[in-house]
Formats: sequence, structure tokens, C-alpha cells
Amino acid sequence: MSVQKIKAKHAEEEGLPRNRYCRNCGALCCKDLSMAIGKPANKKEIEELKWQLQFDAIKVYIRKRRWYQLVESKCMYLSRDNRCTIYDKRPDKCREHNPPDCEYFGKFYDVIFTSPDELNRYFKREKRKRKRK
Ligand code: SF4
Ligand code: SF4
Repeated sequence: MSVQKIKAKHAEEEGLPRNRYCRNCGALCCKDLSMAIGKPANKKEIEELKWQLQFDAIKVYIRKRRWYQLVESKCMYLSRDNRCTIYDKRPDKCREHNPPDCEYFGKFYDVIFTSPDELNRYFKREKRKRKRK
């Protein structure tokens, strides 16, 4: 489904005008932190990432061939009713994060890993693909 269709679907479901998306989503983007990481380049780095994936709060995803680590954790400036308490002074990273390129509007990743096993399987598949070439 295209991003426009996802947006329209959400607006329809929520019965909200488009400029009110953020108010209704529960501030998903203030409850996780995404950091660019390099693709693990050797066995040691793969083992390190597998170890990180043992922890509930950690996920790893690939988007447009770039790798990211996702940490599920709430920003200290988010109020109990999911509002930014420093909205006018919020960091640039927050200002750049907008619908539809965000967690609320569907897939923000091409591949996601939530456990060491999933990462293992991914690298096994990659190895098989390389062998076939
Ligand atoms: S940018 Fe997306 S994830 Fe963040 S509050 Fe708005 S709709 Fe929700
Ligand atoms: S500073 Fe505000 S907009 Fe940025 S993550 Fe925290 S609560 Fe969300």
C-alpha cells in the first residue's frame, strides 16, 4: 500500500483531519530512539549485535540498505498525556521526524530483527545467496 493510501486509511479510521495525526498516535516516536549503525562486517561484530538483541528494548532494522539500532525507551520530556513539554525548544532531530515517514504510518524498515535468531537466519540467507552467484 502506498504511503498516501496508508495516510488516507488512518485519517478515515481516526476520523481526523490530516494535521492532527500526531495528536492521535500516542507519540510513538518519543518512545523509541533510532541510531544509524554500520552493517556488521565480521563474525565478532555479528556476535556483538546478537548479544544486544537479547535485550527486550533493542531491535535492529535495515532501511534502504542502511542499518539502524532501535532502542525502546521514553524521552524524559514527554508528559504523561503524550505531549512534548519542550515543544518550542525540541531538538532538530525531533523536528525532522514527521508523518508519513514515521512509526505510526506503517513500515519504517525493510527488514527488522528482534532476536539473535532472526539475525542469524538473515546472515545464513545472505551466505546462501552469495554462494549461488
Ligand atoms: S511523527 Fe508519527 S510517530 Fe511521531 S507523533 Fe507524529 S504520527 Fe506519531
Ligand atoms: S523532545 Fe519532545 S518531541 Fe523530542 S522526543 Fe522528547 S518529547 Fe518527543
